Amino acid sequence: MLRFAPSPTGDMHIGNLRVALFNYICSVQREEPLLIRIEDIDKERNIPGKEKEIFEILALFGIEYQEQQFQSNNLRFHRAMALQLLQDKKAFNCFCTSETLEKKREASKEGKIAYRYDGACENLHPEEVIDNPLPFTIRLKKPIYSITVTDIIKGESTFSADDIDSFILMRADKYPTYNFACAVDDMLSDISLIIRDEDHLSNTPKQIAIHEALGYTKKVEYVHLPSILENSVSIKWLLEEGYLPEAITNYLILMGNKPPCEIFTLKEAIKWFDLKTLSKTPERFDIDKLKFINREHLRGLDPKELSRYIGFADEEIGNLAKLFLEEVSTLKELRTKIGAIFAPKVVSEEYNKEGFDVLRELTLKAPHFDDYESYKAYLIEHSGLKEKNLFKPLRLLLSGAEHGPEMNDLYTHIKNYLKEVVK
Ligand code: GLU
Repeated sequence: MLRFAPSPTGDMHIGNLRVALFNYICSVQREEPLLIRIEDIDKERNIPGKEKEIFEILALFGIEYQEQQFQSNNLRFHRAMALQLLQDKKAFNCFCTSETLEKKREASKEGKIAYRYDGACENLHPEEVIDNPLPFTIRLKKPIYSITVTDIIKGESTFSADDIDSFILMRADKYPTYNFACAVDDMLSDISLIIRDEDHLSNTPKQIAIHEALGYTKKVEYVHLPSILENSVSIKWLLEEGYLPEAITNYLILMGNKPPCEIFTLKEAIKWFDLKTLSKTPERFDIDKLKFINREHLRGLDPKELSRYIGFADEEIGNLAKLFLEEVSTLKELRTKIGAIFAPKVVSEEYNKEGFDVLRELTLKAPHFDDYESYKAYLIEHSGLKEKNLFKPLRLLLSGAEHGPEMNDLYTHIKNYLKEVVK
Protein backbone atom coordinates (compact mmCIF):
# COMPACT_ATOMS: atom_id res chain seq x y z
CA MET A 1 0.00 0.00 0.00
CA LEU A 2 1.11 3.58 -0.74
CA ARG A 3 -0.14 6.64 1.04
CA PHE A 4 -0.62 10.36 0.68
CA ALA A 5 -0.72 11.98 4.12
CA PRO A 6 -1.71 15.64 3.96
CA SER A 7 -2.22 17.83 7.03
CA PRO A 8 -5.47 19.83 7.02
CA THR A 9 -3.58 22.88 8.20
CA GLY A 10 -3.68 25.11 5.12
CA ASP A 11 -4.44 25.28 1.43
CA MET A 12 -3.17 22.41 -0.65
CA HIS A 13 -0.25 23.76 -2.69
CA ILE A 14 1.59 22.54 -5.75
CA GLY A 15 4.18 20.70 -3.65
CA ASN A 16 1.45 18.65 -1.92
CA LEU A 17 -0.37 17.91 -5.16
CA ARG A 18 2.83 16.73 -6.80
CA VAL A 19 3.40 14.28 -3.95
CA ALA A 20 -0.22 13.09 -4.29
CA LEU A 21 0.13 12.61 -8.05
CA PHE A 22 3.37 10.66 -7.77
CA ASN A 23 1.89 8.41 -5.09
CA TYR A 24 -1.14 7.82 -7.27
CA ILE A 25 0.93 7.02 -10.37
CA CYS A 26 3.15 4.59 -8.46
CA SER A 27 0.18 2.91 -6.80
CA VAL A 28 -1.35 2.23 -10.24
CA GLN A 29 1.98 1.10 -11.71
CA ARG A 30 2.67 -1.23 -8.80
CA GLU A 31 -0.94 -2.38 -8.62
CA GLU A 32 -1.01 -1.54 -4.92
CA PRO A 33 -3.80 0.34 -3.14
CA LEU A 34 -3.47 4.01 -2.21
CA LEU A 35 -4.43 5.31 1.21
CA ILE A 36 -5.29 8.95 1.89
CA ARG A 37 -4.44 9.67 5.51
CA ILE A 38 -5.50 13.04 6.83
CA GLU A 39 -2.91 13.93 9.47
CA ASP A 40 -5.22 15.79 11.81
CA ILE A 41 -3.59 14.80 15.08
CA ASP A 42 -2.26 18.29 15.82
CA LYS A 43 -5.60 19.77 16.87
CA GLU A 44 -4.34 23.31 17.27
CA ARG A 45 -3.05 23.55 13.70
CA ASN A 46 -6.09 22.02 11.97
CA ILE A 47 -8.24 24.39 9.96
CA PRO A 48 -11.89 23.30 9.76
CA GLY A 49 -12.98 22.36 6.24
CA LYS A 50 -9.47 21.84 4.84
CA GLU A 51 -9.86 18.05 4.71
CA LYS A 52 -12.97 18.47 2.57
CA GLU A 53 -11.02 20.69 0.20
CA ILE A 54 -8.24 18.09 -0.02
CA PHE A 55 -10.72 15.38 -1.06
CA GLU A 56 -12.35 17.72 -3.58
CA ILE A 57 -8.99 18.51 -5.15
CA LEU A 58 -8.03 14.83 -5.31
CA ALA A 59 -11.33 14.07 -7.08
CA LEU A 60 -10.90 16.95 -9.50
CA PHE A 61 -7.42 15.77 -10.44
CA GLY A 62 -8.52 12.16 -10.95
CA ILE A 63 -6.48 10.81 -8.04
CA GLU A 64 -8.29 7.63 -7.10
CA TYR A 65 -7.66 5.90 -3.80
CA GLN A 66 -8.86 2.76 -2.12
CA GLU A 67 -8.73 3.75 1.57
CA GLN A 68 -9.10 6.84 3.65
CA GLN A 69 -8.19 7.46 7.28
CA PHE A 70 -8.19 10.27 9.78
CA GLN A 71 -5.08 10.00 11.91
CA SER A 72 -6.94 11.18 15.01
CA ASN A 73 -8.94 7.92 14.86
CA ASN A 74 -5.70 6.00 15.43
CA LEU A 75 -4.93 7.67 18.75
CA ARG A 76 -5.62 4.51 20.74
CA PHE A 77 -2.95 2.70 18.70
CA HIS A 78 -0.42 5.50 19.21
CA ARG A 79 -1.00 5.32 22.96
CA ALA A 80 -0.86 1.52 23.04
CA MET A 81 2.42 1.49 21.12
CA ALA A 82 3.91 4.14 23.40
CA LEU A 83 3.03 2.00 26.41
CA GLN A 84 4.58 -1.01 24.72
CA LEU A 85 7.84 0.90 24.15
CA LEU A 86 7.86 2.02 27.80
CA GLN A 87 7.37 -1.54 28.98
CA ASP A 88 10.12 -2.78 26.67
CA LYS A 89 12.39 -0.02 28.04
CA LYS A 90 12.85 1.32 24.52
CA ALA A 91 11.26 4.58 25.63
CA PHE A 92 11.22 6.54 28.87
CA ASN A 93 9.18 9.18 30.69
CA CYS A 94 10.76 12.61 30.63
CA PHE A 95 9.75 15.17 33.29
CA CYS A 96 11.98 17.98 32.06
CA THR A 97 9.93 21.15 31.76
CA SER A 98 10.03 23.20 28.58
CA GLU A 99 11.77 25.97 30.58
CA THR A 100 14.56 23.61 31.66
CA LEU A 101 14.99 22.30 28.13
CA GLU A 102 14.98 25.82 26.72
CA LYS A 103 17.76 26.86 29.12
CA LYS A 104 19.86 23.89 28.04
CA ARG A 105 19.21 24.71 24.41
CA GLU A 106 20.32 28.31 25.00
CA ALA A 107 23.47 27.15 26.77
CA SER A 108 24.38 24.91 23.80
CA LYS A 109 23.82 27.83 21.47
CA GLU A 110 26.10 30.05 23.51
CA GLY A 111 28.73 27.32 23.64
CA LYS A 112 28.28 26.91 19.86
CA ILE A 113 27.57 23.21 20.14
CA ALA A 114 24.58 21.42 18.68
CA TYR A 115 21.91 20.87 21.31
CA ARG A 116 21.21 17.25 22.24
CA TYR A 117 18.95 15.90 24.93
CA ASP A 118 21.26 15.21 27.88
CA GLY A 119 19.57 12.03 29.06
CA ALA A 120 18.43 13.67 32.32
CA CYS A 121 15.39 11.39 32.72
CA GLU A 122 16.59 8.35 30.84
CA ASN A 123 17.65 6.33 33.82
CA LEU A 124 15.15 7.38 36.49
CA HIS A 125 14.31 4.72 39.03
CA PRO A 126 10.75 3.33 38.50
CA GLU A 127 9.74 4.82 41.86
CA GLU A 128 10.92 8.26 40.78
CA VAL A 129 8.63 7.87 37.81
CA ILE A 130 5.60 6.53 39.67
CA ASP A 131 5.86 9.10 42.47
CA ASN A 132 6.31 12.02 40.13
CA PRO A 133 3.03 13.99 39.83
CA LEU A 134 4.40 16.29 37.11
CA PRO A 135 3.37 16.09 33.45
CA PHE A 136 5.74 14.07 31.30
CA THR A 137 6.60 13.38 27.70
CA ILE A 138 7.64 9.99 26.38
CA ARG A 139 10.95 9.86 24.53
CA LEU A 140 12.43 7.12 22.44
CA LYS A 141 15.87 6.07 23.70
CA LYS A 142 18.33 7.25 21.15
CA PRO A 143 19.52 4.42 18.89
CA ILE A 144 22.89 2.81 19.56
CA TYR A 145 23.96 2.86 15.91
CA SER A 146 23.65 5.28 13.06
CA ILE A 147 20.73 4.80 10.67
CA THR A 148 21.04 4.84 6.89
CA VAL A 149 18.11 5.97 4.79
CA THR A 150 18.05 4.57 1.27
CA ASP A 151 16.18 6.81 -1.11
CA ILE A 152 15.23 5.81 -4.65
CA ILE A 153 16.26 9.22 -5.99
CA LYS A 154 18.88 10.47 -3.56
CA GLY A 155 20.69 7.24 -2.71
CA GLU A 156 21.94 6.74 0.84
CA SER A 157 22.04 9.28 3.70
CA THR A 158 23.42 8.24 7.05
CA PHE A 159 22.31 9.85 10.30
CA SER A 160 24.34 9.39 13.48
CA ALA A 161 22.66 8.22 16.67
CA ASP A 162 23.37 11.65 18.15
CA ASP A 163 21.58 13.35 15.30
CA ILE A 164 18.56 11.15 15.82
CA ASP A 165 18.75 11.75 19.58
CA SER A 166 16.22 10.73 22.27
CA PHE A 167 13.29 12.46 20.60
CA ILE A 168 9.72 12.86 21.84
CA LEU A 169 7.07 10.32 20.87
CA MET A 170 4.21 11.48 23.07
CA ARG A 171 3.77 15.03 24.25
CA ALA A 172 2.71 16.01 27.76
CA ASP A 173 -0.88 16.39 26.49
CA LYS A 174 -0.85 12.64 25.70
CA TYR A 175 -0.95 13.21 21.96
CA PRO A 176 1.69 11.76 19.65
CA THR A 177 4.23 13.83 17.74
CA TYR A 178 4.14 13.78 13.94
CA ASN A 179 7.02 11.28 13.75
CA PHE A 180 5.45 8.81 16.13
CA ALA A 181 1.92 8.96 14.74
CA CYS A 182 3.24 8.70 11.20
CA ALA A 183 5.57 5.76 11.91
CA VAL A 184 2.85 3.84 13.79
CA ASP A 185 0.23 4.49 11.11
CA ASP A 186 2.56 3.55 8.25
CA MET A 187 3.33 0.32 10.09
CA LEU A 188 -0.34 -0.48 10.77
CA SER A 189 -1.23 0.17 7.13
CA ASP A 190 1.67 -1.94 5.90
CA ILE A 191 3.00 0.89 3.71
CA SER A 192 5.59 -0.33 1.22
CA LEU A 193 6.70 2.89 -0.50
CA ILE A 194 6.69 6.37 1.04
CA ILE A 195 6.88 9.28 -1.37
CA ARG A 196 7.03 12.69 0.32
CA ASP A 197 8.78 16.02 0.19
CA GLU A 198 12.50 16.16 0.97
CA ASP A 199 11.70 18.40 3.94
CA HIS A 200 10.95 15.13 5.69
CA LEU A 201 14.35 13.51 5.04
CA SER A 202 15.56 14.19 8.59
CA ASN A 203 12.34 12.67 9.98
CA THR A 204 12.84 9.39 8.16
CA PRO A 205 15.66 8.00 10.37
CA LYS A 206 13.49 8.82 13.40
CA GLN A 207 10.59 6.90 11.91
CA ILE A 208 12.91 4.01 11.07
CA ALA A 209 14.17 4.08 14.69
CA ILE A 210 10.55 3.83 15.88
CA HIS A 211 9.90 0.89 13.56
CA GLU A 212 13.04 -0.84 14.82
CA ALA A 213 12.07 -0.24 18.46
CA LEU A 214 8.64 -1.73 17.75
CA GLY A 215 10.28 -4.76 16.16
CA TYR A 216 8.84 -3.93 12.74
CA THR A 217 11.23 -5.23 10.13
CA LYS A 218 9.46 -4.57 6.84
CA LYS A 219 11.79 -2.90 4.35
CA VAL A 220 9.96 0.29 3.43
CA GLU A 221 11.13 2.11 0.30
CA TYR A 222 11.52 5.89 0.39
CA VAL A 223 11.47 8.78 -2.04
CA HIS A 224 12.11 12.30 -0.79
CA LEU A 225 11.14 14.54 -3.65
CA PRO A 226 13.30 17.62 -4.18
CA SER A 227 11.09 20.52 -3.07
CA ILE A 228 9.71 22.85 -5.71
CA LEU A 229 11.22 26.30 -5.16
CA GLU A 230 8.45 28.82 -4.48
CA ASN A 231 6.04 25.96 -3.94
CA SER A 232 3.51 27.90 -1.89
CA VAL A 233 1.25 28.41 -4.90
CA SER A 234 -2.17 27.14 -3.85
CA ILE A 235 -4.14 24.80 -6.09
CA LYS A 236 -7.34 26.66 -5.33
CA TRP A 237 -5.76 29.85 -6.65
CA LEU A 238 -4.51 28.19 -9.83
CA LEU A 239 -7.99 26.80 -10.50
CA GLU A 240 -9.58 30.19 -9.86
CA GLU A 241 -7.09 31.74 -12.26
CA GLY A 242 -8.32 29.34 -14.94
CA TYR A 243 -5.63 26.69 -15.17
CA LEU A 244 -7.03 23.30 -16.12
CA PRO A 245 -6.43 20.38 -13.73
CA GLU A 246 -4.99 18.47 -16.73
CA ALA A 247 -2.47 21.25 -17.36
CA ILE A 248 -1.44 21.58 -13.70
CA THR A 249 -1.00 17.81 -13.58
CA ASN A 250 1.07 17.86 -16.79
CA TYR A 251 3.32 20.60 -15.43
CA LEU A 252 3.86 18.99 -12.02
CA ILE A 253 4.81 15.67 -13.60
CA LEU A 254 7.04 17.38 -16.15
CA MET A 255 9.08 19.24 -13.52
CA GLY A 256 12.45 17.58 -13.01
CA ASN A 257 11.38 14.70 -15.24
CA LYS A 258 12.44 13.37 -18.65
CA PRO A 259 9.17 12.55 -20.38
CA PRO A 260 9.01 11.34 -24.01
CA CYS A 261 6.99 14.48 -24.90
CA GLU A 262 6.13 17.74 -23.21
CA ILE A 263 2.32 17.66 -23.37
CA PHE A 264 0.64 14.59 -21.92
CA THR A 265 -2.22 13.34 -19.77
CA LEU A 266 -2.04 11.63 -16.40
CA LYS A 267 -3.06 8.34 -18.04
CA GLU A 268 -0.20 8.63 -20.53
CA ALA A 269 2.28 9.50 -17.77
CA ILE A 270 1.39 6.30 -15.91
CA LYS A 271 2.83 4.37 -18.88
CA TRP A 272 6.31 5.88 -18.79
CA PHE A 273 6.73 7.54 -15.37
CA ASP A 274 9.83 6.32 -13.58
CA LEU A 275 10.79 7.54 -10.10
CA LYS A 276 14.40 6.58 -10.73
CA THR A 277 14.86 9.14 -13.50
CA LEU A 278 13.59 12.12 -11.49
CA SER A 279 16.02 14.98 -11.00
CA LYS A 280 17.86 15.15 -7.67
CA THR A 281 17.80 18.93 -7.69
CA PRO A 282 14.90 21.25 -6.94
CA GLU A 283 13.00 22.95 -9.73
CA ARG A 284 11.61 26.45 -9.71
CA PHE A 285 7.90 26.99 -10.29
CA ASP A 286 7.61 28.80 -13.61
CA ILE A 287 4.17 30.32 -14.24
CA ASP A 288 5.04 31.04 -17.88
CA LYS A 289 5.72 27.39 -18.50
CA LEU A 290 2.40 26.51 -16.87
CA LYS A 291 0.69 29.09 -19.10
CA PHE A 292 2.19 27.50 -22.19
CA ILE A 293 1.05 24.03 -21.06
CA ASN A 294 -2.41 25.32 -20.17
CA ARG A 295 -2.79 26.82 -23.61
CA GLU A 296 -1.86 23.53 -25.21
CA HIS A 297 -4.44 21.66 -23.13
CA LEU A 298 -7.10 24.29 -23.88
CA ARG A 299 -6.33 23.92 -27.61
CA GLY A 300 -6.78 20.19 -27.32
CA LEU A 301 -10.12 20.40 -25.50
CA ASP A 302 -13.31 19.36 -27.22
CA PRO A 303 -14.88 22.72 -28.27
CA LYS A 304 -18.16 21.93 -26.55
CA GLU A 305 -16.37 21.14 -23.30
CA LEU A 306 -14.35 24.33 -23.56
CA SER A 307 -17.55 26.31 -24.13
CA ARG A 308 -18.98 24.84 -20.92
CA TYR A 309 -15.97 26.08 -18.98
CA ILE A 310 -16.80 29.53 -20.30
CA GLY A 311 -20.48 29.36 -19.42
CA PHE A 312 -22.01 28.22 -22.74
CA ALA A 313 -22.96 24.89 -24.23
CA ASP A 314 -22.15 25.46 -27.89
CA GLU A 315 -19.14 24.21 -29.75
CA GLU A 316 -19.09 27.40 -31.82
CA ILE A 317 -18.28 29.32 -28.65
CA GLY A 318 -15.58 26.77 -27.86
CA ASN A 319 -14.08 27.34 -31.31
CA LEU A 320 -14.45 31.07 -30.88
CA ALA A 321 -12.53 30.86 -27.58
CA LYS A 322 -9.76 28.90 -29.25
CA LEU A 323 -9.12 31.87 -31.57
CA PHE A 324 -8.02 33.84 -28.54
CA LEU A 325 -5.41 31.30 -27.48
CA GLU A 326 -2.91 33.23 -29.60
CA GLU A 327 -3.13 36.01 -27.03
CA VAL A 328 -4.18 34.47 -23.71
CA SER A 329 -3.65 31.24 -21.84
CA THR A 330 -6.19 30.76 -19.05
CA LEU A 331 -9.93 30.11 -18.78
CA LYS A 332 -10.30 33.29 -16.78
CA GLU A 333 -8.79 35.31 -19.61
CA LEU A 334 -10.92 33.50 -22.18
CA ARG A 335 -14.05 34.28 -20.15
CA THR A 336 -13.06 37.94 -20.23
CA LYS A 337 -12.55 37.85 -24.01
CA ILE A 338 -15.84 36.08 -24.73
CA GLY A 339 -17.59 38.24 -22.13
CA ALA A 340 -16.44 41.37 -23.99
CA ILE A 341 -17.99 40.07 -27.23
CA PHE A 342 -21.40 39.73 -25.62
CA ALA A 343 -21.25 42.76 -23.32
CA PRO A 344 -22.68 46.16 -24.32
CA LYS A 345 -19.83 47.99 -26.09
CA VAL A 346 -18.40 51.25 -24.85
CA VAL A 347 -17.41 53.55 -27.71
CA SER A 348 -15.50 56.77 -27.47
CA GLU A 349 -15.93 59.62 -29.96
CA GLU A 350 -12.46 59.23 -31.40
CA TYR A 351 -13.33 55.63 -32.16
CA ASN A 352 -15.84 56.77 -34.74
CA LYS A 353 -18.96 56.55 -32.64
CA GLU A 354 -20.98 57.59 -35.63
CA GLY A 355 -19.67 54.76 -37.77
CA PHE A 356 -20.17 52.34 -34.93
CA ASP A 357 -23.84 53.33 -34.52
CA VAL A 358 -24.48 53.01 -38.23
CA LEU A 359 -22.91 49.54 -38.39
CA ARG A 360 -24.86 48.51 -35.34
CA GLU A 361 -28.18 49.60 -36.79
CA LEU A 362 -27.40 47.95 -40.10
CA THR A 363 -26.44 44.71 -38.42
CA LEU A 364 -29.64 44.67 -36.38
CA LYS A 365 -31.63 45.00 -39.58
CA ALA A 366 -29.46 42.72 -41.70
CA PRO A 367 -30.56 39.36 -43.06
CA HIS A 368 -28.44 36.34 -42.10
CA PHE A 369 -25.18 36.12 -44.01
CA ASP A 370 -23.40 32.85 -43.87
CA ASP A 371 -19.99 34.26 -44.68
CA TYR A 372 -18.09 37.32 -43.61
CA GLU A 373 -17.50 38.62 -47.16
CA SER A 374 -21.26 38.93 -47.84
CA TYR A 375 -21.86 40.60 -44.49
CA LYS A 376 -19.01 43.02 -45.18
CA ALA A 377 -20.31 43.79 -48.70
CA TYR A 378 -23.75 44.52 -47.21
CA LEU A 379 -22.24 46.94 -44.68
CA ILE A 380 -20.12 48.71 -47.28
CA GLU A 381 -23.07 49.10 -49.59
CA HIS A 382 -25.42 50.52 -46.97
CA SER A 383 -23.06 52.54 -44.82
CA GLY A 384 -20.72 54.00 -47.39
CA LEU A 385 -17.90 53.32 -44.89
CA LYS A 386 -14.70 51.72 -46.02
CA GLU A 387 -11.25 50.66 -44.93
CA LYS A 388 -10.21 51.88 -41.52
CA ASN A 389 -13.50 53.75 -41.03
CA LEU A 390 -15.30 50.49 -41.46
CA PHE A 391 -12.93 48.00 -39.89
CA LYS A 392 -12.09 49.82 -36.67
CA PRO A 393 -15.68 50.34 -35.49
CA LEU A 394 -16.71 46.95 -36.85
CA ARG A 395 -14.06 45.15 -34.82
CA LEU A 396 -15.21 46.95 -31.71
CA LEU A 397 -18.83 46.15 -32.49
CA LEU A 398 -18.19 42.45 -32.94
CA SER A 399 -15.49 41.80 -30.34
CA GLY A 400 -15.61 44.62 -27.79
CA ALA A 401 -11.85 45.07 -28.36
CA GLU A 402 -9.55 47.04 -30.61
CA HIS A 403 -7.37 44.10 -31.54
CA GLY A 404 -7.86 40.38 -31.81
CA PRO A 405 -8.35 37.49 -34.18
CA GLU A 406 -9.04 37.83 -37.91
CA MET A 407 -12.52 39.26 -38.50
CA ASN A 408 -13.30 36.49 -40.90
CA ASP A 409 -12.61 33.82 -38.24
CA LEU A 410 -14.45 35.79 -35.61
CA TYR A 411 -17.52 36.14 -37.83
CA THR A 412 -17.63 32.42 -38.59
CA HIS A 413 -18.20 31.61 -34.93
CA ILE A 414 -20.45 34.47 -33.89
CA LYS A 415 -22.70 34.73 -36.94
CA ASN A 416 -25.49 32.83 -35.20
CA TYR A 417 -25.30 35.22 -32.26
CA LEU A 418 -24.87 38.39 -34.29
CA LYS A 419 -27.97 40.27 -33.08
CA GLU A 420 -27.12 39.45 -29.51
CA VAL A 421 -23.51 40.55 -29.95
CA VAL A 422 -24.42 43.99 -31.31
CA LYS A 423 -27.54 44.57 -29.15
N1 GLU B 1 1.43 15.48 7.14
C1 GLU B 1 2.75 15.54 6.61
C2 GLU B 1 2.83 16.66 5.60
O1 GLU B 1 1.81 17.10 5.10
C3 GLU B 1 3.03 14.21 5.95
C4 GLU B 1 4.38 13.88 5.66
C5 GLU B 1 4.52 12.43 5.27
O2 GLU B 1 4.12 12.11 4.14
O3 GLU B 1 4.94 11.65 6.08
O4 GLU B 1 3.90 17.16 5.33
